[in-house]
Amino acid sequence: MIKIDHLSKKYNDNVVLDDISLEIKQGDVVGIIGPSGTGKSTLLRCVNRLETPEKGTVTIGDKVIGLSERKPKELLYLRQNTGMVFQRFNLFEKKTALENVMEGLIVVKKMKKDEARAIALEELKLVGMEKWANHYPKHMSGGQQQRVALARALAMKPQILLLDEPTSALDPELVGEVLDVIKKVAAQGYTMLLVSHEMNFIRHVSNRVIFLDKGHVVEDGTPKEVFEHPQNQRTREFFSKMH
Ligand code: ATP
Ligand code: MG
Repeated sequence: MIKIDHLSKKYNDNVVLDDISLEIKQGDVVGIIGPSGTGKSTLLRCVNRLETPEKGTVTIGDKVIGLSERKPKELLYLRQNTGMVFQRFNLFEKKTALENVMEGLIVVKKMKKDEARAIALEELKLVGMEKWANHYPKHMSGGQQQRVALARALAMKPQILLLDEPTSALDPELVGEVLDVIKKVAAQGYTMLLVSHEMNFIRHVSNRVIFLDKGHVVEDGTPKEVFEHPQNQRTREFFSKMH
């Protein structure tokens, strides 16, 4: 289980997350939607501590990760147990697909090369990229690079996968292949926080949808509840602009 308690973040006077608390069950796929600039990326980045919140804790399993940055052990645990996939694939350019997936296993998990290679190949297979194992990112399409980025995150066996608009930098014809892989990963029981503007996808892959507006959770329910019966005026306006 993942718990976010009273998370707040501001940049100067700009309050981006205002006292957010959420409990996410094992295997939940939580779709996070909402207007631009509303704090979706900041929420994910505060969960894995790419950003430091002002206030609040994140609990993963039985470990509470608080605010003290002087506890590198806690942060290492957090990094080992969260996987992040970004809008831009952020692969190491000078490494092959296989080496990209092996990197975290060797550096963070201290695995031997052979073991790391076997796991990496398995993950590449899951995302349909095993034939590309020895290719470099620059020879791959954006969709293929993003699938390798997913394999890299999955290889670490994180307790939670954080996906921040994983398809929004892709050409439209490449979006489908990445969404299909995310669906497959979701079906395997991974716990995910997924930020996306692909409403149809969120609707079909998530079992819970959160609408964030100005740093507040204004809707939290099943896809059916949020998309068909939004409680909040802001959500209704947001959906009506999308049609
Ligand atoms: P989008 O849908 O456009 O990706 P978002 O919901 O992900 O938006 P965030 O990127 O979380 O929004 O940004 C929330 C607010 O925080 C915005 O007002 C943004 O300008 C501000 N912000 C984000 N990162 C920083 C930063 N490093 N320094 C200052 N302000 C920031
Ligand atoms: Mg964002």
